Amino acid sequence: MSEVSVPNDVTLMEKVVNLSKRRGFVFPSAEIYGGFRSTYDYGPIGVQLLRNVKDAWWRSMVQMRDDVVGLDAAILSPPAIWEASGHLKNFTDPLVDCRQCRERYREDQLEDPTTCPGCGGKGTFTEARNFNLMFKTHAGPVESDAAVAYLRPETAQGMFVNFSNVLQASRKKPPFGIAQIGKSFRNEITPGNFVFRTREFEQMELEFFVPPEEAQQWYEYWCRTRYQWYVDLGIPESKLRMRPHDPDELSHYSSGTSDVEFLFPWGWGELEGVANRGDYDLTQHATHSGERLDYFDQATNTRYVPHVIEPAAGATRTMMAFLLAAYDEEEVRGETRTVLRLHPRLAPYKVAVLPLSKKDDLMPMAREVLALLQPHVMCDFDETQAIGRRYRRQDELGTPFCVTIDFDSLTDQSVTVRERDTMDQVRVPVADLVAHLLPRLA
Ligand code: ATP
Repeated sequence: MSEVSVPNDVTLMEKVVNLSKRRGFVFPSAEIYGGFRSTYDYGPIGVQLLRNVKDAWWRSMVQMRDDVVGLDAAILSPPAIWEASGHLKNFTDPLVDCRQCRERYREDQLEDPTTCPGCGGKGTFTEARNFNLMFKTHAGPVESDAAVAYLRPETAQGMFVNFSNVLQASRKKPPFGIAQIGKSFRNEITPGNFVFRTREFEQMELEFFVPPEEAQQWYEYWCRTRYQWYVDLGIPESKLRMRPHDPDELSHYSSGTSDVEFLFPWGWGELEGVANRGDYDLTQHATHSGERLDYFDQATNTRYVPHVIEPAAGATRTMMAFLLAAYDEEEVRGETRTVLRLHPRLAPYKVAVLPLSKKDDLMPMAREVLALLQPHVMCDFDETQAIGRRYRRQDELGTPFCVTIDFDSLTDQSVTVRERDTMDQVRVPVADLVAHLLPRLA
């Protein structure tokens, strides 16, 4: 077995996109109707991977802490929220059209704002106009102004407008946080790079409310903690960096923002932003709604508006980073083996149960082994094709363990456990199988 070089970055992207389609991670949306630009559906394997990314986040941000609680707020929201948050006025990108080829671009993403990257036209761009990224719709049958609603462009505002509700219901006090995972929608001018930038995507956001004097220390804490989350789930540090924003990049209310960035095939790109937002959000909503959004500290007899530290990550974008980082090829006995070296916690299937042959006598035992494992972990069951091809398929899905039931199994009540990364095989009694596998999947 020898290493072949990791595919160069352009082909890496193509290979991951192809694998995603072929193995059921991500499909182009509405494909039978010719597709719907930059919209994707998550297939049988992708839905598991995406769910595992979200579960890993929820586990670390909510389950493993006693200072964060969860929320699932509505996607449809009234204009008042976006008026107060500033999104109606400021959530815009500068849009330019090329008069020659009619392509549209985000002016701030052009390498040379005087030259069209599509047709090479010089000075062919229109004046930039600010284009609001929010999707606007109408709630109810009448398309009047009174019925206007927006699809949320971020999950964060749901946490701010529920600040008092959560405070009262959970009996938490600052420092404490509200976490949410859910869909967000942005009418991006230039979606692309597979699921990196789409108009419909999923976010994982925490709003962490702290006494003002503790804001800086919590900001630093969350920068460290969030960076480490990606490392712990297997992103190599050579492909990960924390990039503090320059002062001119900062939003007017932010006293510090750092992005966790991943080295995508086309260069560094943001996975998550960690921002010190001050008291901007609660103050805005308090002013606009007339409701008090502050905290009365009985211990010190003082009332204050908590400051907010916000780690805001993209679930779908992060899933793509995990896929790119896990993709590997190596040569095994003259053949190329493709393997997704996903962290076991992220792997769509943890175990594949494979009866060596479809012969009737192996099936009852194989089904018993499957039933033994299913209550513990997500399993695949595959009885078709030669065993070697089935192993390769599981390698491409990132399945950490294959359990093979062969004819000896019927007499020795043992199975062969094959490990994905080393391809080592060990014989394990069925009675010990759960105890053997579970610690290796944590
Ligand atoms: P970008 O600069 O890439 O447009 P942003 O700074 O506007 O992103 P935030 O508003 O900070 O992004 O959102 C937090 C996270 O949500 C991002 O780090 C990213 O992972 C994810 N995200 C934002 N927009 C999209 C999108 N259009 N498609 C997929 N994920 C997105």
